Amino acid sequence: MTHPVESFELDHDRVTAPYIRKAKVMTVNPAYPDCVISKFDVRFAQPNQEFLSNGALHTLEHLFATFIRQKTDQLIDVSPMGCRTGFYFVFCNDQEPAWVARLVREALMEVCRFTGKIPGASRKECGNYLEHNLDEAKLWAERFLKVPEADVIVVYRT
Ligand SMILES: [Zn+2]
Repeated sequence: MTHPVESFELDHDRVTAPYIRKAKVMTVNPAYPDCVISKFDVRFAQPNQEFLSNGALHTLEHLFATFIRQKTDQLIDVSPMGCRTGFYFVFCNDQEPAWVARLVREALMEVCRFTGKIPGASRKECGNYLEHNLDEAKLWAERFLKVPEADVIVVYRT
């Protein structure tokens, strides 16, 4: 039995980055229908026109993992999209897009202010510790923050 891949059903020609989209809510265990997780796309770059360098993407991943977890215990995972245009955020429970937008924007403001050693980026802690780019990560963060908080949330119907 196969299940559709939600993100393959999104028309990537119809989106305008940057944006945050609630991709899906999933039941974890059918025996506990109230026990759900929610997944969001946090898109930085316009699909099929531009993409983040590995270094910028990797640094943003480390900083998101650090800063978002300082603000909430609901984050299960934040991981880069393979197309390098953004990130998937997975949370415990059915989270509101406005709450996610606030969290992401607060974390990105911290990225813009951040100086010093990238968390978790030593050889022992990271699988590709030399491939980081804080300056580029900051440029993408600034670009994302140019979109007002109320406008960054989108609903794209497939
Ligand atoms: Zn790493």
